[in-house]
Amino acid sequence: MRSFVLTTLFVTLFLTPTMVAAAPRGPRPVEGLDRVMIISIDGLRPDLLLRARTPHLHGLFENGSYTFWARTTAASTTLPSHVSMLTGVVPEVHAIMWNADLPLAQRVYPNAPTLFELAKKSGYTTAIASGKSKFVTLDKPGTIDWSYFPGTLTSEDPEVIAAALRILREHRPDVMVVHLPSTDNAGHAKGWGTPEQMAAIERADESVGALLGALDELALRERTLIIISADHGGAGRTHGPEDPRSRTIPWIASGPGIRRGFDLARLSDLDVETYDTFATSCAVLGIPIERRIRGKFISAILEKQELLQSPRVDPATQPATQAAPGAADAGAGAGSTTGP
Ligand SMILES: [Zn+2]
Repeated sequence: MRSFVLTTLFVTLFLTPTMVAAAPRGPRPVEGLDRVMIISIDGLRPDLLLRARTPHLHGLFENGSYTFWARTTAASTTLPSHVSMLTGVVPEVHAIMWNADLPLAQRVYPNAPTLFELAKKSGYTTAIASGKSKFVTLDKPGTIDWSYFPGTLTSEDPEVIAAALRILREHRPDVMVVHLPSTDNAGHAKGWGTPEQMAAIERADESVGALLGALDELALRERTLIIISADHGGAGRTHGPEDPRSRTIPWIASGPGIRRGFDLARLSDLDVETYDTFATSCAVLGIPIERRIRGKFISAILEKQELLQSPRVDPATQPATQAAPGAADAGAGAGSTTGP
């Protein structure tokens, strides 16, 4: 009872009078890794990424952990899949089932907290630069600090990158999502795997290079988990359900403390899904998730998995104290926590 009174007093006295109470931030598995940038290349089929001249993307997966067999939602369409990527739940749960700009009288938001919302609650700053106007459904008031949405249904990568670089340089958001639309635009206009789309993929790679350059310039690269993924692939001039060419997406994680050159498909029982982008971002940032979600933390990306305070460690084979010295080492001298 006494602790309840004290807790109530604490909450009353110290929490800021915003609409949501701040959630405590848990430990980060890599202490110095306190930022996340998710780059989604709309419509990027993994085999095309590998076939195109994409030196920046190649650099990321060669120095990171990756799979070219990750899967998006069953629907394999842009808006439901991106909302799943950023909420960790299936479209039937977040309820953004449409893929168009709807003439809604009132804006509708996902029926599940987004990465932006949870990151804000944990004291991180957030931003998005998106290439399609329908992404405004992610922009629930109070959850995204800096945003760019085009005024038209779709735009092209250069506009998005210009906005993303501006936001990055001016505000240095802790959590940033960049959505590049041109690969999908070229797929619908000319076809998946056509020379025109291959050229779009190569330009998307240059955009990724510009973002990496800005992170380097701002000395943020060594604190940032970079996740590269997509919302779907495609075949012919379309994409849709029940087609592995639409459903298969790349998933690349790169950054300090992340295993280098590690193909996650070496793990036969690990299926990486788009929901895992959300769960892995939250786990890396120490953001608690307070509901059942489909996504899971892809802990196999960590160089030092033994540092994880994981209940999956079998006490019969792992002495309880084994992780402690390493954990202390990992924390020593690492980057400090950023405020909002
Ligand atoms: Zn798409």
